[in-house]
Amino acid sequence: MSLVLAELLEDLTAGRLRIVDLTQPLSPQTPLLPLPSQWNNSPAFRMWELSRYDERGPAWYWNAFETGEHTGTHFDAPVHWVSGKDLPDNTVDRIPPKKFVGPACVIDISAEAAKNPNHLLTLDGVRGWEEQHGHIPAGAWVLLRTDWSKRRDPKDYINLKENGPHTPGLAKETSAFLAQQRDVLGVGVETVGTDAGQAATFDPPFPNHYLMHGSGRFGLASLSNLDQLPPTGAIVIAAPLKIVGGSGSPLRVIAITP
Ligand code: MN
Repeated sequence: MSLVLAELLEDLTAGRLRIVDLTQPLSPQTPLLPLPSQWNNSPAFRMWELSRYDERGPAWYWNAFETGEHTGTHFDAPVHWVSGKDLPDNTVDRIPPKKFVGPACVIDISAEAAKNPNHLLTLDGVRGWEEQHGHIPAGAWVLLRTDWSKRRDPKDYINLKENGPHTPGLAKETSAFLAQQRDVLGVGVETVGTDAGQAATFDPPFPNHYLMHGSGRFGLASLSNLDQLPPTGAIVIAAPLKIVGGSGSPLRVIAITP
């Protein structure tokens, strides 16, 4: 075995490295992004029993399930957005698997988001982070810590008002900078989608999706436990299901952290 892998196992066993689960539970109660009614909305997660050690299957328990690709903690592939529809290898089954592993840069805007649910990470915010923690490296996941996943009540999590949801996200120029000036894998967030709640009203609408996926980058939505990661130094593993032609998929996201 390579020395690096042997040390990895040793450090995990000894507890010098820790696995942090960045995933929210997946169930019929998992909150969904509410789209205006003129558009198709995603079905909720549904699961039904096939057998449970009974006449339907005497020695085994198993279920079947139905879910939207973009339900719960999930991966967004470039083909998800119109701006990424013609890019090569833009579906979950065709993305090179080495892109499922990368270092995490955790940018914490939880204090601002607590005061203003519509807070957006600005370009100055990213530059300030880089002055403190260094240049965002190629192949990094930029994870936006908002503590939004601590909102356990789906009503508070989606924060829907008469004029749509109110949740934090990234300013358009921040998404443009990360997509074009930094060679990131993508952006991961704790909210239900990778754009701010009010992003349907932005120009273009949902600019983070538009800019990220238009430059072949990915998204991770509905993450949790970002407060357990350091600003730098953790590695994220996020491998979506190999759905042929899929635009995304629910997945288990884990981090390895000191
Ligand atoms: Mn999505």
